[in-house]
Amino acid sequence: MTTSAVKIQKLSKSYNGSEALSNVDITILDGQFFGLLGPNGAGKSTTINILTGLVRKDSGNIAVFGKDIEKEYRFTRSQIGTAQQELSIDWFFPIEKLLQYQAGYYGISPKNAKERIEELLNRLGLWKKRKSRLRQLSGGMKRRYQIAKALVHDPKIIILDEPTAGVDVELRHELWDYLRQLHQQGKTILLTTHYIEEAELLCEYVSIIHKGKVITEGAPKNLISQLGKAGITVHLTKWDDTLPALLQSYSYTQNNSQLHFTVKDAETEISKIISLISKNGCQIQRVETTKSSLEDVFLSLTGRGINE
Ligand code: ADP
Repeated sequence: MTTSAVKIQKLSKSYNGSEALSNVDITILDGQFFGLLGPNGAGKSTTINILTGLVRKDSGNIAVFGKDIEKEYRFTRSQIGTAQQELSIDWFFPIEKLLQYQAGYYGISPKNAKERIEELLNRLGLWKKRKSRLRQLSGGMKRRYQIAKALVHDPKIIILDEPTAGVDVELRHELWDYLRQLHQQGKTILLTTHYIEEAELLCEYVSIIHKGKVITEGAPKNLISQLGKAGITVHLTKWDDTLPALLQSYSYTQNNSQLHFTVKDAETEISKIISLISKNGCQIQRVETTKSSLEDVFLSLTGRGINE
């Protein structure tokens, strides 16, 4: 049996009578790369803030490696490292010092902390900036510092709240590579994001949250094939009136030389469609596919897009 790193059961939370989370159930397996995906205001940060002890739940239970986060908070907090969206207010010390203090909170000896911090600053491209204050760092460097801070005590579970929001494409790719490496090392990663691409690329499993409720969950590929729709557009150079009979089992529209098919899975349907059309002397000039995404899954469940 695979152990669960985080088990959230029936978690609810209201702010001033307005429900931010309602009966949320989430299980994250040990070593899993997990995505909590949803639009702004869906309840992602509230979930994370309760999990990390920053916000008090109204009801429900959360266990980290089987231990309740309130009753055994010392243990559970030691297992988690969090990179929040917002920076804390430690503006006045060099970042190296801030990381040493952070290591101190977790009882790491100064010698071990020094080695760990050197390794992290090097790995995250911040070594040359170790004497700089936070306010002297660029936005991307601040983001990398947040990650170093989350990792300083070598936690088993890493929580990243919108890690690439507002960062440039290059840094986003660098961060993705780094997160993949951490995952390969066996870390459990919980990522919140409203970037569909990020969730699809990185996460083995996602929960999609909307208005405080989990509306679906699963491996991105499975969710897409269950609920998503893909498009195949076939451009013809020659066709005749036998086409409708050949293609009667498909949902498609025809606009002169263009046929547009809506299918669940473009990869499996494309060769069948090409072979049907090629019968009876119809000729294909080219074929294009449009891939379905988690955005389609969200759209089909809620009637709106994640980033609308
Ligand atoms: P997300 O992280 O998915 O953008 P949040 O968890 O931040 O969503 O917010 C969920 C809901 O709870 C939103 O309606 C938000 O306005 C509300 N909310 C979050 N934090 C607070 C707070 N401290 N006080 C009042 N309402 C809050």
